[in-house]
Parts: sequence; structure tokens; C-alpha cells
Amino acid sequence: MVSIDETIKNLKTRGFDVSFFEKSEDAVSYLTSSLKGETIGFGGSMTLEALNLFKLLSENNSVFSHWSQEPVDARKRSADAEVYITSANAVAQTGEIINIDGTGNRVASTLFGKKKVYIIIGVNKIAEDYDKALWRARNIASPLNARRLNKNTPCVKGELKCYDCKSPERICRALVVLWNKMSGMEKLEVVIINEELGY
Ligand code: SF4
Repeated sequence: MVSIDETIKNLKTRGFDVSFFEKSEDAVSYLTSSLKGETIGFGGSMTLEALNLFKLLSENNSVFSHWSQEPVDARKRSADAEVYITSANAVAQTGEIINIDGTGNRVASTLFGKKKVYIIIGVNKIAEDYDKALWRARNIASPLNARRLNKNTPCVKGELKCYDCKSPERICRALVVLWNKMSGMEKLEVVIINEELGY
């Protein structure tokens, strides 16, 4: 059983900002009132989709998302944006934030070149410790993403787990663990919502 209070405390100790909301709509209101007149890049995320954030933030910001716009151009514009919003594949109660990526745009933008990064997660993404968070990212989030994309990989054809495949269609090509907010970044805020969101 994970402790949200402990997770928040440990994320803060590592230099991350944290906000917590019981309901999605409260998190959406917070983000739409905090972000106005910004250039915002989006990482591909079922959580952001579920919150309808592309449409809502586009009302007062320039938002770029390769899931909603021409992908090559949107990825480049997202890379140049000052603010970046994505989710995580897992967050450890001990405060590490884990993302696995295939193209690299999402993990790269959580590391460098942004003034502010927001990582939006449902409580289903929190695991008890680093090993369990890593296991979750590899064996739950990644195979479910491969299934969403209908990839020709063993995690799609077989049991739901990672086979560390060598498939040309492998979607897991890099793993990034954020131990702290990166130097030079003004803010990395983890927005925790007390609901199940995304994979
Ligand atoms: S490495 Fe291969 S088997 Fe493992 S989750 Fe990624 S795509 Fe699936």
C-alpha cells in the first residue's frame, strides 16, 4: 500500500514541486488558471488525453502535441516550447520519476531546455519503492502502450509483461529516471490526482 503523503514528502525532498488534487477537474482548473500566454509542448500521454488538456490549454496558450497535430512539426515545436507537460510511467514513493520512451522527445524534454515541466499522474502510477516503480514502468505501462499501438512485439502477442524484446517494433528504447529537478530548470512540478489515469 503506497502512502501519498510519503510520496509527496520524498518528491519535495528531491527538489520537485508537488500539487495534489482529489479530482481531475480540480487539477485541470489549477493548470488552466496557472498557464496563460505560454508556449507549451505535450508529451504523448493517455493521462493528458483523459483530462482533455490539449483543447483546454489551447484556449489561452500556444500548445503543440504530436497526438493532435502533424507529428513531425509538433514534436519540433514541443522541443522548442518553454513549458512541457507529460505524464510518467511510474513514480516511486521514494521520489524517483521513471519514463521509458521510443522516440525520445518525451524524456528529452523532461531533462533539458524547458523553463517549467509538469508531470501529471494518477495515483495508479505510484509504486512503493524504486524497484517496484521500475517494474511497473517496464511490465505494465510499456506493454499496455505497445498494445495501444498494436506493435508486433511479444508483450502484445503474449502475456502482459516485458520480454526485453529485440523486435524492430520495440517501443522501449530509453529509460530516464529523474532523481532531482535538473539544474537550470526553474520548476518541475508533479501534479498528483487521486484517481486512476493512464497506464
Ligand atoms: S521491450 Fe519489447 S517486450 Fe518489453 S515492453 Fe517494450 S516492446 Fe514490449
